Amino acid sequence: MSHLRCSVAGCATTLDLHDRALACPRCGELLEVVIDSPSGDASHLKRLWLGRRSSFDPRDASGVWRFREFLPLDYGAENTITLSEGNTPVVRGQKTAEWAGVRDLWFKHLGWNPTGSFKDLGMTAGMTEAKFAGATTVACASTGNTAASLAAYAARARVTGRVYLPAGQASNNKLAQALDFGAEVVEIEGSFDDALNQLLASKDPELYFLNSINPFRVEGQKTAMFELLERFDWRVPDYLVVPGGNLGNSSAFGKALEELKRFGFIERVPQIVIVQAAGANPLARMWEAGAKEITPVAKPETVATAIRIGNPRSWRKALHAVELSGGFVMDVTDEEIGEAKAMIGRDGIGCEPASATTLAGIRKLRAAGKLDRDVWIVAVLTGHALKDTDYISKQHERTKRELALAH
Ligand SMILES: *Cc1c(COP(=O)(O)O)cnc(C)c1O
Ligand SMILES: [Zn+2]
Repeated sequence: MSHLRCSVAGCATTLDLHDRALACPRCGELLEVVIDSPSGDASHLKRLWLGRRSSFDPRDASGVWRFREFLPLDYGAENTITLSEGNTPVVRGQKTAEWAGVRDLWFKHLGWNPTGSFKDLGMTAGMTEAKFAGATTVACASTGNTAASLAAYAARARVTGRVYLPAGQASNNKLAQALDFGAEVVEIEGSFDDALNQLLASKDPELYFLNSINPFRVEGQKTAMFELLERFDWRVPDYLVVPGGNLGNSSAFGKALEELKRFGFIERVPQIVIVQAAGANPLARMWEAGAKEITPVAKPETVATAIRIGNPRSWRKALHAVELSGGFVMDVTDEEIGEAKAMIGRDGIGCEPASATTLAGIRKLRAAGKLDRDVWIVAVLTGHALKDTDYISKQHERTKRELALAH
């Protein structure tokens, strides 16, 4: 049976899969799901997963549950809380590739999920488990996208969704989604980190926590890697470039790749490159300094609000992912993010600011001579362009004025 285990290798504490603990009772570190060895060999499962794309079973129509042999549990078609998330395309970079100076650039666009961010991949798994566990109220702290996603899936599960947001810091679009889907919105003075601390301190036994430290969310997010590799017939890119905030996503990708390799689905893993915003860069700083622990950034500041996080909870897991893949961690300035975001827009793709850290990072690496022109790179775009329309309007105010004058 799949079960929970402490994510620290030396600790080895295990718990029942449905234990609601979010931290190891012995050492306090994060928990992770240990997946049973999947039944069926790799070539059989690869065929089965692809075949499910023509099925209307709600689990098969989901790009997450289609890969349920690598998820902790199959809850059955009736009990799976899904909005047909996943199944997002991979789009080739054109102007963006030229701009960054690379030949073989692809974007896996997780912003093209039901609520516009990759959070839906984890939320379907987390909400399905929450419902299974009998939860009636689910809660998260969020910079906006987790709130939008939780709100939608809570509505589908017919449970109360409650979201804690840093006041005045989430984009209006994300806040609007949470309200539209009927969540209770609690605004907290301070940063995302303060909101999360406040939520974790609340001892309400009725609350089911759905932050990314919830190990079921990590499981759902893993499937982005299954889809990506399936799309390329299980050939493995050289680099996988991912924005880093609370670092749940990069942790999930690392876990996926590690499991796929362990069970013989792939022979090697791509180098994972995590890109943080310079004003919210504790992991990049630690990497640069060769330190053993992160030093939280007390006042994280960046235009990329989805990654404005000073004390990322999943940093150990993410570091493990980087190390096992031979990758690295870096950061980019808000100005670099802005330029990259505008280029992704002009390539006809679009994304929210946090996602553009990837292209900004790639361009920066090329300019520094640290990346070969011919390598095969996949950048993960995490959020939809419409997630932060204020940012776009502001960025293009001058363009609008100039056009008005010219006509
Ligand atoms: C949540 C989010 C991130 C950061 O992901 P982490 O798992 O917290 O590192 C990046 N971009 C967008 C658009 C997000 O919503
Ligand atoms: Zn432990």
